Amino acid sequence: MNKKKRKIKKKKLAVFLLALVIIFLVILFSQSGKNFDNRVSFDGASEDYKCPDCNVILITVDALRPDHLGCYGYERNTSPNIDKFAKEEGILFSQASWTCPSIHSLISSTYPSTTGVYLWDQSLSDLTPTLTQILKKKGFYTGFISAHGGLPDRNEFDTFEDVFDAKGEDITKKTALWIEKNQNKQFFLWVHYMDTHDRSIGVPIEKQFIENITPEEIKIYSSKYDEAISYVDSQIAYLLEELKDLMIYNNTIVIITADHGEEMGEHSMYFTHGGSLWDSLIRVPLIFYYPNAPHKGKVILSQVQLIDIAPTVCDILKIKKPKSFEGKSLLHLVEREDISFGYSFSEHQENQGDLSTGDWIYTKISIRSVEWKMIYYVDKQGGKEYQLYNLKNDPQELNNLADIEKGQFKLMKAELEEWMSRAKENISSLIKPLDEETKEELRSLGYLQ
Ligand SMILES: [Zn+2]
Repeated sequence: MNKKKRKIKKKKLAVFLLALVIIFLVILFSQSGKNFDNRVSFDGASEDYKCPDCNVILITVDALRPDHLGCYGYERNTSPNIDKFAKEEGILFSQASWTCPSIHSLISSTYPSTTGVYLWDQSLSDLTPTLTQILKKKGFYTGFISAHGGLPDRNEFDTFEDVFDAKGEDITKKTALWIEKNQNKQFFLWVHYMDTHDRSIGVPIEKQFIENITPEEIKIYSSKYDEAISYVDSQIAYLLEELKDLMIYNNTIVIITADHGEEMGEHSMYFTHGGSLWDSLIRVPLIFYYPNAPHKGKVILSQVQLIDIAPTVCDILKIKKPKSFEGKSLLHLVEREDISFGYSFSEHQENQGDLSTGDWIYTKISIRSVEWKMIYYVDKQGGKEYQLYNLKNDPQELNNLADIEKGQFKLMKAELEEWMSRAKENISSLIKPLDEETKEELRSLGYLQ
């Protein structure tokens, strides 16, 4: 071995050891960290890291599973650009969860059971402020560019382009043009890529059931999925370069995430994301970049949720978040290592019968810690079932431990019930007449006259 090679090897070893030490420390702190209490307000995020003049770009990639990205440990090199961005510039949240319908929850920082919006064709009440509305009132120019069918309320955006099934490069082109055109304004832009969606990768519906798909086909579609991820990765790289070329990279918050994951055979389904709350669906990647972040490349092991994105953006921009937001600013986790966010909750509800009567409703709610997950089902007859999984030993959630781990079962059931009663309180408070303080808040945001 020559000297140069030895030097590189030594350097690689040093980087590896340093990474190990950092990971160990993060685990240590996260294990010893106390849970961040939802009910206690915490405004300790340091002013130095904030950026009131920043733009905001939210990039959602449809059906993107974190475990198919290099920065989340995937063995294939599907995402070199996202990996580099996460490692050198961003902050990576290793345990981010989604709730359905995720787009509405993400943009309003609320759970479906709070707003009553469970279905994709439902929309949020005017009394539920969204991040878009809040930023617009603050003078942001707002845009939405997507290849999806139906997403957030188009009336909230100054420009709304939804080109059904457009390829990633068309979305990127439109986005680059939009940014170029609006670079002198303070803007919020939401970009949604569809290339990783099963429809885009061409999986026929009948192949989504385990009995209809062969191992060869699984291999082919998995490769196509990974190729689609690489493709979107290069599109995102192009956009980040564009921000640098226009000299606004240092003045822009960039968030990369997904609206949900994808079934990959863990529970008899392939390349679909219907109505389950398995980790294959509710876990999503989340990478946050903001110019003044104190710890670039940091990996946060605490659990976070998509509803935490809007409060974090408000926090960085120094905008007061509305009382309706149920998420928490992630800056707390970035700055402090002695706290973790505790449980995450996901919900799904669907009408399985006659939509006109709406009385055939199937509800699923999950409560998840880093190690444990409970899924609660209510069927059409009102029958209830609780399942409990140990995510550490059984990441595919195949062994229901509800009858075995009695202590854990009791603990999580109690937490879930407490959370469900909170949700009910919130719904009834939405129906009740507004109190003066809320009215005042809504007036100051421009929602009420
Ligand atoms: Zn989707």
